[in-house]
Amino acid sequence: MSSYLLLAALIALLSGLAIGKAWERYKLRDGKWIDRRRSRESPHYMLGLNFLVANQIDLAIEELSRAAALDSDALEVHMILGTLYREKGQVGKAITEHQTLLQRPKLSRLEHANVLLCLGLDYKRGGFVDRALEAFTEVLRLDPKNEHALLNLQKLHEEQHQWTEAYDTRRRLSKLADIDSRPQSQAILAFLENEIGLEAMRRRDHAEAIRRFDSAIDLDARAVPAYLNLGDVRVAQGSERDAAAIWEKLIEVAPDRAYLAFDRLEALAIRTGRPERFTELCRRLIDNNTQDWRARLALSRHLAASGYPREALDLLFAALVQNPHALGIHQAIWRALGQLHHPAALVDRYGELTENAVFYLDPHVCMRCHYRSTELLWQCPHCHDWNTFVEERIAPAQDATQVEV
Ligand SMILES: [Zn+2]
Repeated sequence: MSSYLLLAALIALLSGLAIGKAWERYKLRDGKWIDRRRSRESPHYMLGLNFLVANQIDLAIEELSRAAALDSDALEVHMILGTLYREKGQVGKAITEHQTLLQRPKLSRLEHANVLLCLGLDYKRGGFVDRALEAFTEVLRLDPKNEHALLNLQKLHEEQHQWTEAYDTRRRLSKLADIDSRPQSQAILAFLENEIGLEAMRRRDHAEAIRRFDSAIDLDARAVPAYLNLGDVRVAQGSERDAAAIWEKLIEVAPDRAYLAFDRLEALAIRTGRPERFTELCRRLIDNNTQDWRARLALSRHLAASGYPREALDLLFAALVQNPHALGIHQAIWRALGQLHHPAALVDRYGELTENAVFYLDPHVCMRCHYRSTELLWQCPHCHDWNTFVEERIAPAQDATQVEV
């Protein structure tokens, strides 16, 4: 008897599951049962996804449009279609697609948030900043932990130079982020603090500026621009000794960026009647890193200006071996050779050293999107990421000859 009961219970359970599945799959519309999975099982959907993966956007749009026509209810197909229009730059079509989805009466809270996020991205792409801000803010009201919305909101505020809002948004995002990504997040917060500090500096609110630059350094001990700016505020307040200490601290924590403080430190050393402080600093950097061509260039400029062009030239030739492509070194060499009235032996030596050189004006490249710039930028104007630029090094001339052999 009990085995019959068990069987009956099993049958009831399985049929219940089957009905549930069928309910999930079919839906009554206009008095007809329609297959809700139809669009996803159609060959157009699969073909569309394949084209998408192969980055053939036009063909993907064509196939996915056909899949969407089979079932106008298929939310995700319409969302992808809208996104593809946006990627193609057809922002109007993308907005229409996503706005139509928003009109649906029975969207769940999360579906609503996701469609709004897409719409926000459309607005952002189209340059409708206010509407994009509004859409992302609404996404966060529906789904306060939506990281995409937070990140996009942060970027929009950054583009508008609304640094305080960008900072607050980034704070919310860092609280959600995994522990692994926190150092990077701290570094971004430090850059934003630095921007807020710069605003305070422009208003001549020195106390607030100092507070912000200090806070940036607390967040990220390698926040280079914060050290530079903090020193500048100290100079503006007349505390040159403090400024020197701050810039020297920068060189200690980020020797690879030391050159950014060279002009400031040199001017300060000359102003305070202690130029040897600067020459000693450069020599220390060269001793610690024999590849440091920037310290050699800085020291050579200082020596040439102080009446020692021959010593300057030796340093410049050594710098040239490290980086034969830096235009700044060549310009300094031309000036020093001119000061020495072009002695034939030194001109010949310069010719030998530059045989394989290509000139670049201090090339920097974004590690993320490969955008090139002729100076070090803290935020990439192309991908808008922070602190992604590295000095682009082309192999020294000596190595290049070895490779050719
Ligand atoms: Zn970039």
